[in-house]
Amino acid sequence: MAQHDTHPQSQSQSSDARCCGVVQEATSKSLDRRNKRREKPQPWIVLKMTIGFALGIIAYASYVYIGRFCVPMLKSKGGSLGGRQVGVPFLVIFCILLIMMLWAYALVVLTSPGYARDYVERSPPPQVALRPVPRWWDSSSDLEGGQYEYTSNSTHANGGAQTNGSSTLQSLPVPHEKPIQQQQQDDNSGVADAIRPVQVARAHAETDDNGALPPSSDDGARGLPMMFTRKLPMTPIMRPEYRYCNKDGFVKPLRAHHCRACGTCILKYDHHCPWIGQCVGARNHKFFVNFLQWAGVFCMWTFATLVAGVVQESRNGNLDPQYIVIIALAGLFILFTVSLLFTHVRLILLNQSTVESLNMQRMKEREKSVLARHYAWYQFGAKRQLRKQWDREWGDIDTEANLWWLGNTRENWVSVMGHNVWQWFLPIGSSPSDGRHWLPNPRFDSEGKPRPRSLWPVALQ
Ligand SMILES: [Zn+2]
Ligand SMILES: [Zn+2]
Repeated sequence: MAQHDTHPQSQSQSSDARCCGVVQEATSKSLDRRNKRREKPQPWIVLKMTIGFALGIIAYASYVYIGRFCVPMLKSKGGSLGGRQVGVPFLVIFCILLIMMLWAYALVVLTSPGYARDYVERSPPPQVALRPVPRWWDSSSDLEGGQYEYTSNSTHANGGAQTNGSSTLQSLPVPHEKPIQQQQQDDNSGVADAIRPVQVARAHAETDDNGALPPSSDDGARGLPMMFTRKLPMTPIMRPEYRYCNKDGFVKPLRAHHCRACGTCILKYDHHCPWIGQCVGARNHKFFVNFLQWAGVFCMWTFATLVAGVVQESRNGNLDPQYIVIIALAGLFILFTVSLLFTHVRLILLNQSTVESLNMQRMKEREKSVLARHYAWYQFGAKRQLRKQWDREWGDIDTEANLWWLGNTRENWVSVMGHNVWQWFLPIGSSPSDGRHWLPNPRFDSEGKPRPRSLWPVALQ
């Protein structure tokens, strides 16, 4: 009887298990398929399709502006704003802005961003035991000795100022073997994590008063009742084993990253821009900025003059609805181009790519959340003081703690936009940098890890 009772149950359990197994298998297969699809570069036609779309919008805007707005004025047939004396300058200015924008667009579309594969030989993965990159959640090693990374950094201090991207392939002293791919994934997450979590720091402070306070040459450091420090990413990115691209099979040049859409590594990868059908990288970043400048001015001119035309026409009672479409499009693209232009001017002045700036941003957000948890919201002074303290110890995040900071904003600007002032506004010339060799900040060690101010070259302290 008992057997009879349990039999259907066990049968249903086993069928449940089979069912779950099938579902799990199907789910994992579909995830695999999706991942494989994502890994595939986009077909050429898909990449370039948006260029046709963008040119279509420009052609339509030109038709409405010239054919339906300027020509009636030139014919003096009761045009919206006036006669020939208004129509001619409007048409000339529009055509000049249109030519400038198309010129810059052609250059940003046709100039290759710089492909790493054209310069780097394929090679097997460097046979080196990867060193663990300290991460805040990987707390045991961090807490046991009560040591901060820069204590061990001091062993690299000698190599500080003479950094070059070509570290030799040698076995490293710390045995820690991990598949390279997994390690690289860890790197990406490690980059974002600048400082240890509050709980860990607090627990540590309770057991060891000195441990959590960073040793510092600055007397002010110990005057603060603080148990947190700035924790900058410690990935030794100058080492070749940390720059190996598994998909391309070579060691990427510094600042190069793999673009999934293009399916290859791009020199000084900034971002993949669908509007230009390719990446923005070392070679076309300058033209991208030129394009944003002219597209912004073009949209503003079109927007402002058509709005004036609409105001006038609505008084006369014969409003052309196509003006409204173009005004809406122009307004949208003004927001888009102007915000992007400001972002990129700032990035160039700081010598950061979009990818690099995201890491900086994450670091700042993490610090903000640590401060918010430790201080009440109104303790602005205390928070500011602690930030200043961190800046004194490690340097400002965007500048001194930026591996590619060249010392001042003008140097950074010129390194992308060129020495000639005309090049800053016209789509001519090219960036002085070759996209492969970058001068690292001497405040960092030879492996590209940040050092505290006390270990910087004396002239920079
Ligand atoms: Zn790659
Ligand atoms: Zn791309």
